Amino acid sequence: MHPLAKLDHKFVWHPFTQMRDWLRREPLVIVAGKGAVLRDVRGREFLDANSSIWTNLHGHQHLKINSAVVRQLNKISHSSALGLANEPASLLAEKLAGAANSKLKFRNAKLSKVFFSDDGSTALEVALKLAHEFTRRTRGKKLRPKFLSLDGAYHGDTIGAVSLGHIDLFHQAYGGLLFKTDKVMASYCYRCPFNRAKPERADARSYRKCNWECVGKVEQKFSAQKKRGNPYAAFVFEPLMQGAAGMIPQPDGWLNQVAQIARGHGALLIADEVMTGFGRTGVASVSIRRSGPETRDRRDACPTLFASHHENVQPDFLCLAKGLTGGYLPMAATLTTQTVFDAFLGEYEEFKTFFHGHSFTGNQLGAAAALASLEILLTEKSVRQRAQLQQNLRDELQSLWALPNVGDIRQVGLVAGIELVKNWRTRAPFALRERAGIRVCEAMARRGVLTRPVGNVIVLMPPYCTTPAQLRKMVSVLRETVAEVFHIN
Ligand code: PMP
Repeated sequence: MHPLAKLDHKFVWHPFTQMRDWLRREPLVIVAGKGAVLRDVRGREFLDANSSIWTNLHGHQHLKINSAVVRQLNKISHSSALGLANEPASLLAEKLAGAANSKLKFRNAKLSKVFFSDDGSTALEVALKLAHEFTRRTRGKKLRPKFLSLDGAYHGDTIGAVSLGHIDLFHQAYGGLLFKTDKVMASYCYRCPFNRAKPERADARSYRKCNWECVGKVEQKFSAQKKRGNPYAAFVFEPLMQGAAGMIPQPDGWLNQVAQIARGHGALLIADEVMTGFGRTGVASVSIRRSGPETRDRRDACPTLFASHHENVQPDFLCLAKGLTGGYLPMAATLTTQTVFDAFLGEYEEFKTFFHGHSFTGNQLGAAAALASLEILLTEKSVRQRAQLQQNLRDELQSLWALPNVGDIRQVGLVAGIELVKNWRTRAPFALRERAGIRVCEAMARRGVLTRPVGNVIVLMPPYCTTPAQLRKMVSVLRETVAEVFHIN
C-alpha cells in the first residue's frame, strides 16, 4: 500500500463512508488534476465524472482561476469580515447581485444583499435563520414559524439544514436533535403514484401527460393550514432538479406553479442552488433533438446562471456554494432582498443585528476564485462549450436505454441521473443493501471514470471543459459496467 494511503487509513475519517469498507482496500490518493482529469499518486488517470462531488465548473487547474488565486495570495489570503471589508468580497457581491437579477424582470424580490459563509450547509443555515427572524419581526414575535420542504429533500448536514431534509437514511439518526419541518410531495415523475399507466419500455422514455397532482398537493398543504393562518416562514426547494434525492427533475412549469402557491399563502421562497447554480442546469438556447424524458432543454433562450430563473421564479433567498468558486475553494453566499435586510436595521441597543457569522466569511482567496469563475462563465466561449456539452450528453445517454437495468435517464442541462432498477418493465428498485449504485461506481473507477451514486442513481455531471471523447468514455464505461455488474450479455 502506498505510504499516503496508509496514512489515510490510519488517521482520516471520510464523509458518508462506511469506514469498514474503506479500510478493506487501498484508496485512490489524488495528487493532481487538469481539466476533467484527476491523477493519483501512482500516476493513474481518471475522468472526474461528477465534477468532484458537483463542485468543479471549468476543470481543474484552469489558468484564469489559478492566476486569480495566486494574484490574491500575493496580496493577502484572509482578513476577517467581522469589522472589516475586503476587495474581492465587495467586488464579488456586486457581481453576484448582478447575475442574480440579470435579464429577468421580477415583480418581487430583487436580490441585492449578499451574506457570505463557507459551504452549502451554512448558506442554508443563514437563509433559515434570516427567514425565521424576518417572519417573526414582520408577522409577530409570538409566531413560531415553520418551514416546508420537499419529499426527499437534502440541504446539507448542519442541524438546521438536516432539519429541512427528508431522507430517512441520512436524517433519521439525528431526529432528537432536529426541529420539525413539514414535507410535501416532490415531482418524481418516474415513480409518480398518480400516473398508473402500465409501464412499458416506450413509457419509460417519456413522461405521460399529467394533471399536476403533485402541484395540487402543495396547494393542499398550504390550504390545510389556513385556519391557523399560514404557519410557514418559507418554502425551501432545489429548483429544476433535486440532487441527493436521486436527481429528480421537475417538469416544465412545476416550479413556477408551486412558487406562486407558496407566495400566494405568504411564505418566503428559499432556493437552494448549491448544486443547480452557475449554469449547471443548462444553457437554454440550444436546439435539442427530443427523444429522452421531458427536460428543461426546450425552454427559451435565457442566459441565466440560476435554475430558478429558468422558471421565472425569483426567490427571496438564493443559496449558493459548490460551484461559486468554480469548485476551487470552500465558500458560500446567501443572497436576499433589501426588505429582509431592512428588517435587521436598528440602533445598536435595539439588538436587531443578525447574530451569525463565520471566521472565514468573505474569504479573499475564495472570492478571487469566484470572480474569475464568474468571468469565465459569462464568456461566449463558455456558453457555447456548455451548450455543446449538454447536447453531447443528451446524445451519448441514448445508448443506455438499451440496458434492461436502466429504468430512467434524467437529464437537466449538464446533470444526468441514471436510475438502476431490477427490471425496467416493472421498475422494481434494488434494495439499498444490494449496493447496486456503489458496485457500478466501483467498477467504473476500475475503468478510469470516477463518480458517486445517490442510492441506485448513477450521477454524471461532467466539468464544463469535458471533451466529446472524454464524455463518450464516461458514458461507454457506465454502459460496459452496468452490463458487467448485472451480467447482461
Ligand atoms: N444543498 C444541496 C442541494 C446540496 O447538494 C448540498 C451538498 N451536496 C448541500 C446543500 C450542502 O452543501 P455542503 O456539502 O457544501 O455543505
